[in-house]
Amino acid sequence: MEEGYLSLRVRELAPSATQAMNMRAKKLKAEGNDVISFSVGEPDFKTPKHIQEAAKKAIDDGWHAYTPNAGTPELRQAIAEALTRDTGAEYTAAQVVASTGAKFSIYLSLLALLNKGEEVIIPAPYWVSYPEMVRLCGGKPVVVHSSEKEAFAVSPAALEAAITDRTKLVILNSPSNPTGQVYPARTIEKIGDLLEKRKLWCISDEIYNHFIFGDHGHKSVATVSEYCREHTITVNGCSKTYAMTGWRLGWIGAPARVAKAIDDLQSQTTSNPAAITQAAGIAALKGPQDCVLEMVAEFDKRRFIIHDMLNDIDGVVCSMPSGAFYALPNVSALFGGTIAGVKVECSNDLCNVLLDKAHIAAVPGEPFGAPNHIRMSFATDAGSIEEGCRRFKNLVEKGEGV
Ligand code: PMP
Ligand code: GLU
Repeated sequence: MEEGYLSLRVRELAPSATQAMNMRAKKLKAEGNDVISFSVGEPDFKTPKHIQEAAKKAIDDGWHAYTPNAGTPELRQAIAEALTRDTGAEYTAAQVVASTGAKFSIYLSLLALLNKGEEVIIPAPYWVSYPEMVRLCGGKPVVVHSSEKEAFAVSPAALEAAITDRTKLVILNSPSNPTGQVYPARTIEKIGDLLEKRKLWCISDEIYNHFIFGDHGHKSVATVSEYCREHTITVNGCSKTYAMTGWRLGWIGAPARVAKAIDDLQSQTTSNPAAITQAAGIAALKGPQDCVLEMVAEFDKRRFIIHDMLNDIDGVVCSMPSGAFYALPNVSALFGGTIAGVKVECSNDLCNVLLDKAHIAAVPGEPFGAPNHIRMSFATDAGSIEEGCRRFKNLVEKGEGV
């Protein structure tokens, strides 16, 4: 291919690290290896039966045509009710747009708000796709670090210090991927006050809002004040809550004028999310919710297993996850050493040696803005978590692989 053939935009793009590690693990598995994957953030449960049945019925009933871009009226109504219930802020169907996954919802939200050169504040550690999406939309990501000591909730003072006259919005994600931590309500309130004081917008990615453990609670920034209600795009979807990653259904709830802009963008890009998926989404949102509670109870058990086993490995320190299904162990004490004859200088090196020697897939912290850490999804069964952590310990402490 001749030099410069691809757009600058694409040449500068870092492909998704979570997807890349998932593909590497899958390939190794397909080659006959016993791989334990802590890589991708995807529930290991099947989509509940009643949701599957609704999709089959939709095929039989002839849901074969385009629907309105933003989703059928019934789906948008069901989403508005779910957003109202979950956030505590009122949403109507006109304030909702359904898209092919929350990832695309976030992308469209950025496209709708950002002009070239405008800055977006992203608290780190962050989900890998935020900075890349901001760049794709012509904006400039501005990363603000949070510390393990403050349970990875960025301080409002640090956020304020990063605001310039080009700042347009802040991306919040609680419960967070990759930290597995939930922002305290008080911190969300202070950030909400700051948004109002500095006249900023917010994209609040709440895709893990059902995955909250112990006595932690979920606070939506849209409920902080009237200003926040009018300047927040709340994002959610079916992928995590209903174990529907492959179905591709996400959505936004936003002021009606913003929802309309996102609807217009969608009309010129993907059109509506798949009609069959929309039928499944209606069943998910309006059907029984015990499937969600069962899944969350299972993740709640697993977080103790992974937390305790990781902390039992020399050189690994892990905070207790309070939300989502990620552990983010600090592995920096291993840097500069040798594991199974391999020099380990950074989280990338560690993930490579874990995969090559012990057949454990974890994602390096660098692309999450967390270079001292690695991300381990515990959306895998308890037996595999135990076996994976045993392998990790044997490899690090004794240099034994599989
Ligand atoms: N936000 C966060 C924080 C995520 O971890 C993910 C990954 N699944 C998404 C958004 C996108 O989810 P989906 O596109 O599957 O709805
Ligand atoms: N969000 C999930 C993760 O972080 C799925 C992969 C992706 O969408 O990038 O692993």
